Amino acid sequence: MTPHTPPPRKLTILGATGTIGINTLDVVARHPERFQVVALTGQNQIDKLAEQCRRFQPRYAVVLDPGKGRELEILLAGTSTRVLVGVAALEQVASLPEVDSVMAAIVGAAGLRPALAAARAGKRVLLANKETLVMAGRFFMEAVREHGATLLPIDSEHNAVFQSLPAGYRGNPAGHGVRRILLTASGGPFRTRALETLKDVTPEEAVAHPNWVMGKKISVDSASMMNKGLEVIEAHWLFDAAPERIEVVIHPQSIIHSMVEYLDGSVLAQLSNPDMRTPIAHSLAYPERVEAGVPWLELAKIGQLTFEAPDFARFPCLRLAYQALAVGGAAPAILNAANEEAVAAFLERRIPYLGIAATLEATLGRLSGLPAGSLEDLMAADGEARRTARELMTA
Ligand code: NAD
Ligand code: MG
Repeated sequence: MTPHTPPPRKLTILGATGTIGINTLDVVARHPERFQVVALTGQNQIDKLAEQCRRFQPRYAVVLDPGKGRELEILLAGTSTRVLVGVAALEQVASLPEVDSVMAAIVGAAGLRPALAAARAGKRVLLANKETLVMAGRFFMEAVREHGATLLPIDSEHNAVFQSLPAGYRGNPAGHGVRRILLTASGGPFRTRALETLKDVTPEEAVAHPNWVMGKKISVDSASMMNKGLEVIEAHWLFDAAPERIEVVIHPQSIIHSMVEYLDGSVLAQLSNPDMRTPIAHSLAYPERVEAGVPWLELAKIGQLTFEAPDFARFPCLRLAYQALAVGGAAPAILNAANEEAVAAFLERRIPYLGIAATLEATLGRLSGLPAGSLEDLMAADGEARRTARELMTA
């Protein structure tokens, strides 16, 4: 008898040329019988996208800019991959009938519309783009429910929480005996740096994360702990948890990726080496398990797992995120947009490191009351926050 092999899962990877995209393709390549790539998208790194297309032979490759599209067509001449151009094409490949799983790994607010298109098409959405939930959590979660999509978190903390929750969990923590969600954070490169020297932090120092290799934006967010702040908001929407049920604990070794505490005092955790291929493989194969290429966890070699409470004075961005979540409405979208602008300005050396938190606080102070009744309202708040942040940074 031949063993039963299910047909391969057909995938679109949004943001294929980024860190998450590359790690996804690494896992896919280990299991060609299980996963088949239908579409890949990228923005600037055309050579890398072309190389990925030659290797994985997707039906479609999407770029944003027509000039880059022509470049890619030349590089892919003679292959069966069709090049599509523009934002609408991102939404199109996220909702193709033949695709069942969409990896949403574009960085920033640009990832919202394609992720939403995948949810509305009822796909299995493997969500790396946390900004989608921070900006428009209510609307995104509604789309997931209304269209019968399956949402699998890729962010390592949320993937850990998902794995530590009871199977079939669909919100209402108290109803499942869940007391708190404990999100772990490495504390980034500045956890122990002398406070008075934070004003001198350079972009090079901020992107040098001690445990993870990531894109530049999320690396700066990790250094400021805005990343954890965004993740608190992400957890709120994903798991239907009130802010007071979400606690951040610093765990510098990044081995425990998060935990769920139950009413009886049990705490369930997910542990692994800090390698995004673990949550990616978990979500790609869910509910099955596949090899991810990640070295086995050798606890005896690691020796110690330690924990600390976060210092809100050192990490004001984390405090601002809790504050934005408490205010609700458009505040998280405003925080996110101002942060994208401030991080870009910091990476271009237009503002100092401490200017990031100052810009967010001032932008939130000016705009928190903007309406949030529709997706259009939130997109407008995003635009207004970017304008305000830019103005504050040039003042
Ligand atoms: P990255 O910068 O390495 O890659 C971003 C990808 O998005 C690239 O493929 C790029 O071409 C594409 N892109 C950028 N701007 C775009 C735009 N305007 N329109 C269309 N495509 C665009 O980022 P990353 O580290 O892979 O992170 C991707 C997402 O995953 C982010 O939302 C991040 O917060 C989240 N995430 C990443 C990690 C990680 O370990 N890298 C962990 C958890 C969550
Ligand atoms: Mg994370």
